[in-house]
Amino acid sequence: MSYYYGDHTSAEIAEYAKKNAVVVLPVGTTEEHGQHLPVECDAIIARHYGDKIGEACEKAGIPVLVLRTISYGFSMGVVRHWPGCPNVDIHVLTSYITCIVESLVKEGFKKIVMLNCHGNHDCVLRTVMRDIADKYDVFTMTIGAGIGGAYEKMKRDPAGDIHGGEYETSLMLHIAPELVHTDLYTNVDAIRIDKRLLGPVSTWGLQNTKTGIFGDPTYATAELGKAIMDSAVEKAVEYITLYRDHNEQSNA
Ligand SMILES: [Zn+2]
Repeated sequence: MSYYYGDHTSAEIAEYAKKNAVVVLPVGTTEEHGQHLPVECDAIIARHYGDKIGEACEKAGIPVLVLRTISYGFSMGVVRHWPGCPNVDIHVLTSYITCIVESLVKEGFKKIVMLNCHGNHDCVLRTVMRDIADKYDVFTMTIGAGIGGAYEKMKRDPAGDIHGGEYETSLMLHIAPELVHTDLYTNVDAIRIDKRLLGPVSTWGLQNTKTGIFGDPTYATAELGKAIMDSAVEKAVEYITLYRDHNEQSNA
């Protein structure tokens, strides 16, 4: 049976809601990713991640529906400098995703998982989570493709990856190698800043980029990409199982 939400009839959707099905909403974006990766990189990763979670949940006997991937989102001006970014205002995007999640809640779904596959969306999806919880007492979940921990264990680039480097390029070599221009790899934008500032300060404000990436794709391998994805799917199913079984309500 298809795990895509949109492949089902309205009556079937209602049945899924009665079964306390988990709904997965992959969220990517379309923006430049250097000279070697397609602009849809984040959306391709989000879609693949959603598909694999759908397959794995079905295998584990967890009723699941996967929505089509949100492929256009918010990117900061420094990224929009390069072509390939049909940008959505951050407030419009937050409102758009809130409306989708709100509709799912009104359909009776209580376990909604957003897949965040774009750094600039962290605050957007967190805002959606808080807003929905506050209005409906429904607690949604947000996870990324890095949750499995394989990248931290296996990476060869000591500086790691922020955008278009070893992590993302490895995932793309695993998911869609035909879209990766390996002949255009460059390490001119390898991360060279004090890593202690990563996180507390937006990377885009710490280091200039010549080619639109922050990282070094020359370290990337398809094997690493597969390990990242496999571990992320395994961890996602673990979280989803716990989340679905958890019923204790808040103090509201
Ligand atoms: Zn990306």
